Parts: sequence; structure tokens; C-alpha cells
Amino acid sequence: MKALIYNGPRDVNVIEVPDAKIERSTDVLVKITTTNICGSDLHMYEGRTDVESGKILGHENLGVVIEVGEAVDRIKVGDRVCLPFNIACGFCKNCERGLTGFCLTVNPGTAGAAYGFAGMGPYSGGQAEYLRVPYGDFNCLRLPPDSEDKENDYVMLSDIFPTGYHATELAGVKAGDTVAIYGAGPVGLMAAYSAQLKGASKIMVVDTHLDRLALAEKMGVIAINNSEGTAVSQILEHTKGQGADRGCECVGYQCCDHHNHEVPNLTMNSLVDSVTATGTIGVVGVFIPKDPGAEDVMAKQGQIAFNFGKFWMKGQRMATGQANVKAYNRKLRDLIAADIAKPSFIISHELPLAQAPQAYKHFDARDAGWTKVVLKP
Ligand code: NAD
Ligand code: ZN
Repeated sequence: MKALIYNGPRDVNVIEVPDAKIERSTDVLVKITTTNICGSDLHMYEGRTDVESGKILGHENLGVVIEVGEAVDRIKVGDRVCLPFNIACGFCKNCERGLTGFCLTVNPGTAGAAYGFAGMGPYSGGQAEYLRVPYGDFNCLRLPPDSEDKENDYVMLSDIFPTGYHATELAGVKAGDTVAIYGAGPVGLMAAYSAQLKGASKIMVVDTHLDRLALAEKMGVIAINNSEGTAVSQILEHTKGQGADRGCECVGYQCCDHHNHEVPNLTMNSLVDSVTATGTIGVVGVFIPKDPGAEDVMAKQGQIAFNFGKFWMKGQRMATGQANVKAYNRKLRDLIAADIAKPSFIISHELPLAQAPQAYKHFDARDAGWTKVVLKP
């Protein structure tokens, strides 16, 4: 089959590799019809993780089931399914509690596994023609009959729509809240969209990229242009000097100042300043335990100089981590089916798999207009 593999920093290509196949009786084999490029892929693409060369990337996958292992009950050949980026067993202590992003059995020694992902187990990604899905009965989300028409909406259930939603859950967003979101990439925009669905009274999204801010504005939220480094003061102005009730971090460890220079503690400390006393902060942007490629000495050790004194004095709370996609994907699917949610509005490019290397290049450069790429193998 054809698949996109990682060779080294900023070097990916599409080559012929052995076909994905059923390896255990609980597996399902999916023919991929849509697979996205994610901001998380860029940390790997840029060589800022320990992902091994030769790995097939791609964790935002949707397709048709073409084969099922003999222990698979519920999922049938021909089902159209969307796969959460997390791979989970469904029976461990964390999965039982709905924390499938932290499954204890599928990647022993760590909590959490994913397709084509650094540090998340030996699983191949879905930027390929076929994908092996472990524990198929548990991990496949079946899609309704309109799934071909709305494929570009449903594929967002694999990651960024639930992840944006997770940011608002971690931050405790409720109807009437004011919300400050750092990052207007796909995840930040989906967090804003989720806050809208929850009935937030004011949503502010911070970035420096005008095309992404324009998309935020088009959604009907307040776009905060940080190109002068004034995001915090703009948010305070919009909230009578108090700060937002809730804050979401949707950028991660490679966050930049307004000169596009990496400053790893910037968004976290800006959130402490942007959120009101006793407010809550949800962090879904990725931070990693070791970042040898960082310029910053602390960041190399996975540490940031966090303004903990101010955080403590303000009595703020914070929650972090990978999204437990399965906790939300069924309900969010139903919002798409009911025509209440349409997350495909963030897609800028729909391309064949063969053009993935060029797409990585443009998306990585945050070239104007490259918001979200969906690939069609
Ligand atoms: P992206 O890289 O396309 O978007 C990030 C955006 O943040 C960019 O538009 C960039 O200009 C902006 N940015 C950079 N520095 C900033 C700053 N100081 N203030 C405000 N904005 C700033 O990526 P994405 O796909 O939107 O993903 C965002 C983050 O979420 C990444 O770290 C990704 O790995 C992570 N992620 C986490 C999960 C999860 O489960 N927790 C899932 C998917 C993605
Ligand atoms: Zn993703």
C-alpha cells in the first residue's frame, strides 16, 4: 500500500510499504478514505520529538471497514467508521473511567497510545491506504447514513473537534462564561466552536496569523491579534479589567512571541494573566517531558518557568493532557448528524495522499490560507 513516512526533520514522502493487516483477533482493518494533517504531526515533522524514521504518520482517520478479526462482534465489513486518535483497550482502570487517552494496556509502561505518534506506541498511522485498528469493537465510531456527504465533518471527530471540546471541558466552560483561547489553529478554532455550542457569552481567540484570525471572526468570535504582543491587555479590556472566566491553551510547547521566536512559557504565563482570579485553565496544546531540540535550557528538560506565585495567588485551577476522544465523539457526531455542528468549515485544502509532502511544507510554514489539510488516499 502507499503511505506517508517520516524520514527525518522536514522530510516525509509517500512510498510503497507492506499492507496493514489484521494482527490480532480483536483487530479491524480499515480502508482509509480521509486522513488529516494535524498540528501534532508538525512537532514530529520538525524533528522536535523522538519519533523514529520510517514511521507512518497520521492519527486523524476515517474509512470503511474491509475486514474484521474473528473476535470482533459489533463492527461489520462495510461499516463507515471514524477512529479516535487514541488507541484504547476499554477494560483498564483508566478506560473504565472514560480516560481513554491514558489507556494503561495498549502501550505498556506509559499511559496512552495513538496511531503514528511519537511516544505513543508501535502503531502505524493512517496517512496511508489501509489502517490496522486494535480493539476494533471499542475504538470504531460508526457513522450514520449521511457519512459520505458529510465525510469532511465526521473526520474531525478523530481529533480536533473532541480536542477543542476537551479544552473547554478542562477549563470548565459553562453557559454565560467569558473564554480566552490562545491559538487560532484548528484546535483553537474548535475550542472556540465548542465554547459557542456551550453558550459562552464572549469568546476571544489569540493568534498572530491574520488568515486564522479572519476565520475566527467569521465564526462570530473576537479575534485578538497578538502581533504587537498585547493579547493580555486586549483580553483585559474586553473583560472590564478582570480577565476571562476560562482560558484554553491550544498552542503547546512550540509557542512563539510576536516575532515568531519560540518562548516555551509564553502562553501558559499569558493565560495566568488573561484569566480572572479563581478562573480555570484547560491545556490541550502539547507539552513534552524532554525537548532536546529546544534552544531554551529549561525546555530541553521539558520544563518552563511558570508564574506559579501569581497562579496560586489568583486561586486559579488548571487541567491538562491528551483529549479522551471517546468521551465526546458520539455526542459530537450526533450534533453533526442533526446539522447543528459543521466543523468542516476550517478545511482549507483537500488533496490526494501523493501531495501530502507539499501539504506538510505549507502547513508547517503556516502559509496564509493553509488552515487544515484533509488527504484522500
Ligand atoms: P497549529 O500549529 O496549526 O496551530 C497553533 C497556532 O498557535 C498557530 O496558528 C500559531 O500561530 C499559534 N501560536 C503560536 N504561538 C502563539 C502564542 N504565543 N499565542 C497565541 N497563538 C500562538 O496546531 P493545531 O492543530 O491547532 O494544534 C495546536 C496544539 O494542540 C498543538 O500543540 C497540537 O500538538 C495540540 N493537540 C493536542 C491534542 C490533545 O489531545 N491534547 C490533540 C490535537 C492537537
Ligand atoms: Zn491531531
